[in-house]
Amino acid sequence: MAPKRKSARIAAAALVVVPKVTIPKANDKSATAEIAKLKKQLARNKTESTTKLHRAQCDLEYARDELQRNKMQHKLESEKKNEELATLKTEKQALTNEIKHFKNCKDTRKAYGIVQAECKKAEQSRKRMLEAQSLLRAEQEKKFKEAKPWRQCEICTEEFTETGARSPRIMSCGHTFCLTCLESMKETYFRTQIRCPTDRKYMYCKDGDLTKLPINYLALHM
Ligand SMILES: [Zn+2]
Ligand SMILES: [Zn+2]
Repeated sequence: MAPKRKSARIAAAALVVVPKVTIPKANDKSATAEIAKLKKQLARNKTESTTKLHRAQCDLEYARDELQRNKMQHKLESEKKNEELATLKTEKQALTNEIKHFKNCKDTRKAYGIVQAECKKAEQSRKRMLEAQSLLRAEQEKKFKEAKPWRQCEICTEEFTETGARSPRIMSCGHTFCLTCLESMKETYFRTQIRCPTDRKYMYCKDGDLTKLPINYLALHM
């Protein structure tokens, strides 16, 4: 704004220039000469004033242009700064996201570590439990075999079951064996007869269906 104000002042000064007036003498001739001199002076002053005014106008014009240029420059700079600001904001957002991502990674690694440690503990517990079960089973089997040998088939030594292939079946002679062993004892040609391995007596089963033989519940529940 400064150039505009300065130019305006110059213009105002040019407009108020007043020629120096001297009072003419009584003498007509000299008065005429004086008037002519004054007229010349006035004309010179007018020319000077006009020149000054013109210069002032030029200055003002220049100042306006300068102002316009400054405004445009400022606008451009402002736009550039806004662009830079937007870029910085985008970069900041990207960095924030990256930090968040790294933090998540760290948390995930931590969680993974905890899970791994827990898995290891669980695995150790499972191993110990299996060992204990194995010991218990061995002990039970030992006790079982010693105390109740009638609970297993004399031929295959498998434990009798309530139903199925290892169910205890009573032969006509009174001896008990599991269904599988009785099946395997069927004669090659006479599929309807079985010889008891204990007392060598023959047993005849009408159609060869051994599942019709009665189950020895005593062997199961004693
Ligand atoms: Zn058997
Ligand atoms: Zn028998």
